[in-house]
Amino acid sequence: MNPHNPIDLHCHSHHSDGVLSPQALIAHAAEAGIRMLALTDHDTLTGLPAAEAAARQHGLQLIPGVEMSASWANKTLHIVGLAIDRQHPALQQHLQPVQAYREHRAEQIAERLARAGIADALARTQALAGHRQLTRSHFARMLVDSGHCKDQRQAFKRYLAAGKPAAVSSTWPDMQDCIACIHAAGGMAVLAHPLRYQLSASWRGRLLTAFKAAGGDALEVSAGASQSPQDVATCAAAAREHGLLASQGSDLHDPAQRWIRYAALQPLPSDLTPIWTRFS
Ligand code: AMP
Ligand code: MN
Ligand code: MN
Ligand code: MN
Repeated sequence: MNPHNPIDLHCHSHHSDGVLSPQALIAHAAEAGIRMLALTDHDTLTGLPAAEAAARQHGLQLIPGVEMSASWANKTLHIVGLAIDRQHPALQQHLQPVQAYREHRAEQIAERLARAGIADALARTQALAGHRQLTRSHFARMLVDSGHCKDQRQAFKRYLAAGKPAAVSSTWPDMQDCIACIHAAGGMAVLAHPLRYQLSASWRGRLLTAFKAAGGDALEVSAGASQSPQDVATCAAAAREHGLLASQGSDLHDPAQRWIRYAALQPLPSDLTPIWTRFS
């Protein structure tokens, strides 16, 4: 955790592909010294009520959030919505078809896994996910639990990543629509983990120009332990160049994965404007 700003604006509960319940996640964050936490599950808001209740108990400020899957130029991006009104109808309208699409996509992934010799993938993955929002992470866990892969990283590398046997070229709502929906719900839109999209510097520049033009508010400048100081500097320069606020978030899924701990968040350069200064 950055001791000056004990803030984490990106993490997951078991309502999407995190391992902890919202209650356990908040308890874990409070114990780690976090004072402000955004729960940002993939394309679902169902964890937020329990998180709010737990945050009150632990005296921690909960920022209602969501991580939206988005498309731009045939690429998949993640747009984090922060400080949203979780009851706003625009959010349900946006998320319901995405949730239906995720179910359909899970069937397609399972069919491809069957062709690759892994039977019953959907039923096994659903059993493990407990009928929550299905993501590729759940398939990865199933592949590990069933002994097909030694860890999730290998499951993506062998089966689930783009170009691999179980990959599905996914269609998500346009980035512009995600940003507009987040704004309609009173929130701010953050481009998550900008260096994880395998874009060249020029493509990244085009993306940031389009994100800003679509009304995007902030860039995740400090994005967890896998980031080097050079990565933070690269994202900070991009935020300056495009006039974006700065966010920080661990993208924590599992506290047992030590490389994405709160403790590892690097501080934001002091000339950037942190997004949390704009929360009302
Ligand atoms: P989905 O939105 O269903 O495509 O799932 C995406 C999720 O899979 C991400 O949010 C990550 O949590 C996880 N993920 C993606 N790529 C990898 C990878 N190479 N290794 C481990 N987890 C990954
Ligand atoms: Mn995830
Ligand atoms: Mn993400
Ligand atoms: Mn995430």
